[in-house]
Amino acid sequence: MDTVDAIVVGSGPNGLAAAVTLARAGVSVRVYEREATIGGGARTAELTLPGFLHDICSAVHPMALASEFFRAFELSSRIELRQPEVAYGHPLDDGRAGLAYRSLDETARSLGVDGPAWHRMLHPLVSRWEGLTSYTGGSLLRVPKSPTALAAFGLRMLEQGSPLWNQRFESTVAPAMMSGVSAHSILPLPGLAPAAAGLILATLAHGVGWPIPVGGSQSIVQALADDLARHGGSIETSTEVASLDELPPSKAVLLDVSPRALLAIAGSRVPARYGRALSRFRYGNAVAKLDLALSDPVPWTNPELRKAGTVHVGGTHAQIARAEAIVASGKHSSKPYVLVSQPGVVDDSRAPAGRHVLWAYTHVPRGSDVDQTETIIDQIERFAPGFRDTIITHAGRTAVGEEAQNPNYIGGDISSGAATLGQLVRRPTLSLHPWQTPMEGVYLCSQSTPPGPGVNGSAGWHAARRALAVTFGIRRAPYLGL
Ligand SMILES: Cc1cc2nc3c(=O)[nH]c(=O)nc-3n(C[C@H](O)[C@H](O)[C@H](O)COP(=O)(O)OP(=O)(O)OC[C@H]3O[C@@H](n4cnc5c(N)ncnc54)[C@H](O)[C@@H]3O)c2cc1C
Repeated sequence: MDTVDAIVVGSGPNGLAAAVTLARAGVSVRVYEREATIGGGARTAELTLPGFLHDICSAVHPMALASEFFRAFELSSRIELRQPEVAYGHPLDDGRAGLAYRSLDETARSLGVDGPAWHRMLHPLVSRWEGLTSYTGGSLLRVPKSPTALAAFGLRMLEQGSPLWNQRFESTVAPAMMSGVSAHSILPLPGLAPAAAGLILATLAHGVGWPIPVGGSQSIVQALADDLARHGGSIETSTEVASLDELPPSKAVLLDVSPRALLAIAGSRVPARYGRALSRFRYGNAVAKLDLALSDPVPWTNPELRKAGTVHVGGTHAQIARAEAIVASGKHSSKPYVLVSQPGVVDDSRAPAGRHVLWAYTHVPRGSDVDQTETIIDQIERFAPGFRDTIITHAGRTAVGEEAQNPNYIGGDISSGAATLGQLVRRPTLSLHPWQTPMEGVYLCSQSTPPGPGVNGSAGWHAARRALAVTFGIRRAPYLGL
């Protein structure tokens, strides 16, 4: 193996973002990926039948649109990201549904009595979404660029993260919508971290939208890989790295892996204190996934949900909180929260003419090997009678299966580390530069570093910027655009 300046282990969105940043700065880069295909949590494949393209992991990309890295990379000029008319919908048993339109005003109008309260909660955040994401896009220990955005956010987070959550609303629809976005965090509700996740996601729905890439999430990582190749970088697939000692000589190694894998790969080179800190890093609860090939669109009782890219299934805010509490206690809920994405709403390239794909997952305890197929189908059927009859075939994956397809997802924890408030600051250690390890030339660039989960490329970008500054003496951020 010939030498290069920098090696990236793992071709997830963060690994590739790191590789592109380094290559754009003139550093020679090689990426090693254990899977036969690149992309980690942003891959698309025919999981059920030929011609049916399913997103293996991520499907919906507000964070890609909002991220500083992908904006500098001009992602939206490189691939087609389509906006569903309704970013996310939330059905209730009585046939009503919460609908988050791209426009905050339209959403507020559709919420009737709770419209003004919804508007008051989100308007100060939506109007400052850039300031908000520039803060959460890096280490939380830094001085915020937009203190007013942060103050508005903090007040709402305290409210939604406390027993006062949703008290500002009178009806049941808006609280259900807030619990639906907050439950993305896979943490018990209410809580400060779920409130933060919910407020960010709800803000982005109106600030940038929740877009779906034409052709699937693979198009995002393919755009990164194409750019990397154009700037001299290379990727070797089907190459698992078990130890730093296996790698050819290089000045820097950036690891798109979990802290647990970093400990194994770096072995005896890990200083004891850093090793203890990494061992204390906690992994969160998990997901079990279901991909379906359908003969028809989902027959939602509320037909407006046919316009939604994402649907949060699980009922009222109390029902969702109960389901998440059951998972937090280490058990499986029989009526769980289910996240559904229906890409066919904006992208008919995913399935043969007249057919559809559906993407769904539910929360389960970490390490669960319980198949959730029937539970997920029952929950969708609850709000879409006749759904079962539209299923041509399906492919399920348990939480244990999640880790088998990607070792970063410890026990099926798709965030590679619980996204608690503490672990968003201490990710994976408390440092102004959490991407840099105490080992010379070794960096961590995965979602186990700030800003944490999501296809935003930011962890990779920050890690590469740090490596450029410390190892290569390059302080200027490279140009990433077209
Ligand atoms: C089911 C599911 C649904 C999701 N939905 C969304 C969504 O809709 N929107 C969103 O923004 N995010 C979503 N996510 C989260 C998103 O996928 C992750 O936050 C993101 O992929 C993290 O990127 P990463 O580069 O840090 O790691 P990963 O994407 O996990 O990539 C790590 C890569 O490293 C490789 N690797 C690991 N160890 C080694 C080794 N030793 N040697 C070589 N290669 C190695 C892996 O094979 C993998 O390719 C979802 C995730 C899952 C699983």
